[in-house]
Amino acid sequence: MIKFALLCARGHEFESWFQSGEAFETQSKSGRVLCPLCQAADVTKAIMAPAVASKNEGVRAKPPAQTEALSGAEAQSKMALLDPRERESRAMISAFRRRIFDEAEDVGMRFAEEARKIHDGLVQDRPIHGQANFEDARALIEEGIEIFPVPPLPDELN
Ligand SMILES: [Zn+2]
Repeated sequence: MIKFALLCARGHEFESWFQSGEAFETQSKSGRVLCPLCQAADVTKAIMAPAVASKNEGVRAKPPAQTEALSGAEAQSKMALLDPRERESRAMISAFRRRIFDEAEDVGMRFAEEARKIHDGLVQDRPIHGQANFEDARALIEEGIEIFPVPPLPDELN
């Protein structure tokens, strides 16, 4: 059933239910749709709002077509790009980086060297940060020295 807002030739507005849009066309053409106020059979569809509660709600409730087409891991990775989560992860990375740079000693390019000294007990055990190339990092890990990469801020990836 479809509800149409109707308008008679004399300007009376009223609403009426029909099986379908075609049913209305058929009935109005054969003069069977009558204005309840003046019984005029010259009735047309008035401009009416869509069936949704309100235009804005309809837009909000409808997910983007792109999201609907995604599934599984792909959908989840897309989800990670959504604003709230992105902000959250940025905040976490920022806090993590701040903690490292505040609390750990910056040993710069001597990172691998210092990490080995700490590991071997040659110097005082302390948190350090610095730069290591891929080879250094792999060697340290193979030597059983705990290191972990500092995640770059999303901005720094650009
Ligand atoms: Zn009328």
